[in-house]
Order: sequence, then C-alpha cells, then structure tokens
Amino acid sequence: MMNAVTQASKAGVATVKLLIDGEFVESHTTEWRDIVNPATQDVLARVPFATTAEVDAAIRAAHAAFATWKHTPIGARMRIMLKYQALIREHMPRIAKILTAEQGKTLPDAEGDIFRGLEVVEHAASIGTLQQGEFSENVAGGVDTYTLRQPLGVCAGITPFNFPAMIPLWMFPMAIVCGNTFVLKPSEQDPMSTMALVELALEAGVPKGVLNVVHGGKEVVDALCSHELVKAVSFVGSTAVGTHVYRLGSEHGKRVQSMMGAKNHAVVLPDANREQTLNALAGAGFGAAGQRCMATSVVVLVGASQQWLPELVEKAKTLKVNAGHEAGTDIGPVVSRAAKQRVLGLIESGVKAGATLALDGRAVKVPGYEDGNFIGPTIFTDVTTDMDIYRTEIFGPVLVVLSVPTLDEAIALVNRNPYGNGVGLFTQSGAAARKFQSEIDIGQVGINIPIPVPVPFFSFTGSRGSKLGDLGPYGKQVVQFYTQTKTVTARWFDDATVNDGVNTTISLR
Ligand code: NAD
Repeated sequence: MMNAVTQASKAGVATVKLLIDGEFVESHTTEWRDIVNPATQDVLARVPFATTAEVDAAIRAAHAAFATWKHTPIGARMRIMLKYQALIREHMPRIAKILTAEQGKTLPDAEGDIFRGLEVVEHAASIGTLQQGEFSENVAGGVDTYTLRQPLGVCAGITPFNFPAMIPLWMFPMAIVCGNTFVLKPSEQDPMSTMALVELALEAGVPKGVLNVVHGGKEVVDALCSHELVKAVSFVGSTAVGTHVYRLGSEHGKRVQSMMGAKNHAVVLPDANREQTLNALAGAGFGAAGQRCMATSVVVLVGASQQWLPELVEKAKTLKVNAGHEAGTDIGPVVSRAAKQRVLGLIESGVKAGATLALDGRAVKVPGYEDGNFIGPTIFTDVTTDMDIYRTEIFGPVLVVLSVPTLDEAIALVNRNPYGNGVGLFTQSGAAARKFQSEIDIGQVGINIPIPVPVPFFSFTGSRGSKLGDLGPYGKQVVQFYTQTKTVTARWFDDATVNDGVNTTISLR
C-alpha cells in the first residue's frame, strides 16, 4: 500500500495523499500548496486541494462503510482503540519530529500535542459504558422504556494548524468508536503529522472506508458542509471560518459543533504565589509562540500585583527563541510568513494606539535560522479595552497587561469580552476562587492553572464567542454529539394477559 506521504520522484517534492476507501491515493487536482518548515522555509512536501469528485468519493466510501461498521460489536471497536493508543505511544517521537518540522513548536511541546490526543484515544476505549442507553422498567402496566444511542452515519471533521495531532484525535477516534464513519479535512498548513496518525489508525485495524481524508481549503470544507450524505460536522479553527461552517452545515440539516477563537485572560490577585504565577503567565503566554486557543493573551493585574510587572518582563526575557527541534528552545517560530506579518501588524497597531511596549520581540535574531518566522516574547502595558491588541486574537507570543483595583472589576472586565474559551485565576484564597468560578462567564476556568484544557473524561467546554453548538469535543458530550437517541417503549404480552379493550386515550395503561 502507498504511504500517506511519498516522494514523487528523485528530484521532486513529496506529496501528501488522500485516503479514500482504505487506499492512500494521489490527487488528480491541479491545485497544490507547499508545506513549509517555519524555522527554515524548506519545502517539506506538497498538499493537494482535492477535487469535488474526490471529496464526493471519500464521502461515498464512508457512507458505504457505515452499513457494516455500525453493526460492529462494541468490543471489536474498543479493541481497535486499545491497539491504536499503543501504536501512537510507540511512534510518538517519530511523529513529534514531523510535527515540529511542519508546525514549528518545540519537540517536547509536539509530544504534548500528541499526548493530549492520545488521552482521547485511551478514553475512546471505554466506549462500552459511555454509549450505554437508559432503561426504565414498568413505566405502565407491563410496559418498559429504553433508549438506544445509535451512530449518525458519515461525520466530517475540519481541523486547524495549531494542534495537528491533538485536534484530529479529538474527532475521528470518538466518532468512529461510536459506530460512525468519518471524513477528515486536516489543516493544509501542516497535514503530515495528522497523516502519520491516520496511517497508524489503519494499522490498528480501522477498516477501509471507515476513516477517509481529503485535503484542501474553502471549497473542500464547503463541500463537506453541504453534501447530502454528511450527517454531522466538527470544526475547530478561527471564529470567522467556524461561524461560516456552523451556518452552512446547519442550513444543510447537519449537526454542527464549532470551537473557535479566543482571548483568554489571567487574573492575578496579590495574594497569589508570586514565583508560580509568573512562571505560569510566561509559559501560557509565550509557549507554542502563543498559538494555542487556550493561550493566556491578557494578564489582569489586580491591586498590588501590579508591582510584579517588571519581574514578568525579566522572566519573559529569559525564554529562548530558536528552532523547535533545537534542545532547550522555549519559543519556536510562528507557523508562516503570513502569520508573522499579521502579528507584527498587530504589534504596530498597539504602538500606534498608545500602549507601552514593555518588551519588544520584533527584532529577535536566531543564528542559523535567519529566515525563520520568529517573534520574541512581547509585552504591552497601558492597554485599554478599545485597542485592537485587546480586542483581536493575536495568536502570537504577545501578552497585553491591564490593571484593575479589585477582583469585582476584573470579573466584570473578563465578562465584557465577547470570547469565552478559557480564563485563569491566581490566588491563595479559596473564597476568592469560589466567587470567581461562580461569577465568571467563561466555559473553562483554571484556578492556579494557566491552560485549563480538560482531560478527556470531561469535555472541552468553551462558551460564548468561542463556540457554536451545544456539545463540545470529547468526553460524554461528544458521545451525545456523535449519536442520536432512539427511545423504545415496549409491551410484551403473555398469552394469558386479559384483553382490556380499545384504548382511545393518550395514557399508557
Ligand atoms: P482557520 O479557521 O484559518 O482554519 C481552520 C480550518 O478551516 C482549516 O482546515 C482550513 O483549511 C479551513 N478554512 C480556512 N479558511 C476557510 C474558509 N474561508 N472557508 C472554509 N474553510 C476554511 O484556523 P487556523 O488558523 O488553522 O487555526 C487557528 C484558529 O483556531 C485560532 O483562531 C484558534 O483560536 C482556533 N482554535 C480554536 C480551538 C478551540 O478549541 N476553541 C482550538 C484550536 C484552535
């Protein structure tokens, strides 16, 4: 069988394949895009923008496979996930290298990206209890009611560039283990690590047609959202695209979940542990070059904690900017030249708007990687909420710092922001933490935890402007998302049961 990524010819660049009906196939498209190492600008491979016919073929393969896959016993589906988690574990260092080369993040963080997805696969192996229905005996005389949690059919997933391992693994393992079949559309910026994970899924025993992959951009996404055979769409990415996907999919009668952009605040009370808090802010603000949907991007210093600012700047200066594969790197490059230009533009807008640049990372130089898309840690103070650097998701290593006198004002500030993905509170006061968790209108709250992404037996629960759709990825919620409930009300008669005549009322007797 052809691999997911193969060398086209001796001199040529490798090409990423489509996966249709169990075969890795070369696309017939004329539209290709380079996958570029963001530290070196080396072209690693080319990814196709699949044709309409190829997208249709992938969906039809998934539809055909559903007819038998949905009847596969639970134990058989679980055992594929058990084998899959073992394979991912075994291949993690190899896949992390691919991920760092195409995405830019450090090798340890790339392993973290894979590991947080691996945890979802481990959880998928307990689908036996997760997908159970409910049963009530004797809801009326001799009548029982029970529910079946049945798979939907073909589900589609559209994923962003920033977690090319974790986010595809939020989606297809849970969809498949529930009995659905799947068409995945990875990010066109870094699909190679995703494809390495897809190869392992086939090796683990996912049958042909149950998992398919198409590559591309808007046209492919729109085809998935409007195809008559697709029943549900999971999206993770920016707010603009997620809103479009939610609307288009819903208009075509699909169940849709969109996890989208963010502006995550960290609120610091003066009683917090100073060293731990400053470490957490620097790690969550600048780690992965700020390209996490749960990255801390706004620091709200309450009262006397404002005096900690110089120390935060000093801490940020100690972080090492370098290529992700170099040992000791804290901050790798951002994903593309375009992403770098966008972040630099936002920094410029902050300067123009009158914010103070307490730390300027624009001129950072990385010896040996002069062409890399590097931006050093950058900190703005004197920021007001009308500035673009506060209102826009920067998605780069930039922290904006605001100061307020009280916890109440910090809560009000966070609640006025339209996004609702994550928030952190740093304090040693249980009473303050309890008030905060109760009053804050954000879907995921960290208390002395800077990036509160829930483990997979809970669900990802971003809210407000960061999410469309009721049910989040993984955990119990996604089992609801990837299944429909059928309720059966049944009466079984003994031959000896007395016939009590015609019942013309709505009541069960
Ligand atoms: P993106 O929205 O640009 O791309 C996401 C996906 O949509 C990709 O597969 C892409 O090919 C596709 N796409 C791009 N333009 C499209 C269009 N016009 N029409 C249809 N499809 C299109 O996002 P990105 O830059 O890859 O990822 C970063 C964004 O994702 C950030 O906003 C980040 O906050 C968000 N994100 C959110 C979460 C979450 O759980 N809330 C997690 C990770 C990333």
